[in-house]
Amino acid sequence: MSDVVLKLDGVEKFYNKDLAGEIHVLRGVDLDLKAGEMVALVAPSGAGKSTLLHIAGLLDEADVGVVEIGGKELGGTSDRRRTKARREDIGFVYQFHHLLPEFSALENISLPQMANGVSKKAAAERAQELLDTVGVAHRAHHRPAELSGGEQQRVAFCRALANKPRILLADEPTGNLDPATSDQVFDALMRLVRETGLAALVATHNMALAARMDRVVRLENGVLVDGQADAVA
Ligand code: ADP
Repeated sequence: MSDVVLKLDGVEKFYNKDLAGEIHVLRGVDLDLKAGEMVALVAPSGAGKSTLLHIAGLLDEADVGVVEIGGKELGGTSDRRRTKARREDIGFVYQFHHLLPEFSALENISLPQMANGVSKKAAAERAQELLDTVGVAHRAHHRPAELSGGEQQRVAFCRALANKPRILLADEPTGNLDPATSDQVFDALMRLVRETGLAALVATHNMALAARMDRVVRLENGVLVDGQADAVA
């Protein structure tokens, strides 16, 4: 069996289709992302990184092409199947953490599990383990506003992995952090990815971080090309 967990094949996306201001943002994106692999996605702002991540994460639909998760084509299937795959197979992390302000770190990680039918106790145990992995266990009962930016983002990683997805999609996850914090947060992310064996696609502008991943792909003129981290300005 193939260990490709996310496959994009000939993915195209238009905005403002059939209007004078049409933008052909993705022009045939191909990607094979394997279990245990951490891939950096680099591109200039406006190149279509967020669009690509949203299509890969089934939050948006491709106009042309195929999106397969775990060997199943889900690009054009019903909302119900897409929602299920999104909930079970995909974890998302954004530049800003989007944690729920009125809940503690532990609760933020427990709630998505409870929504999937896990008991409160088991959810809290897993949340605590995840927090431990990223070095934030001692902040479990604090609300997001009481945590530093780096701690908030580490909690957001834990939340994204709470339901044991097969794929992690991250959009500039260290983009709003200072360089030292960014390194710490990235270390935590790598530890989580390595320990869980999931596949991660991480959009970043930080070339030092990109170089630490297993490989780098560049989004250039609407297609993905293999890239060297140091070759990207
Ligand atoms: P990136 O994440 O690389 O900065 P995006 O995927 O956000 O790029 O956007 C790629 C291009 O598509 C940009 O030119 C942007 O203005 C355009 N775009 C993104 N979303 C929309 C939308 N909903 N409607 C029209 N144009 C959009």
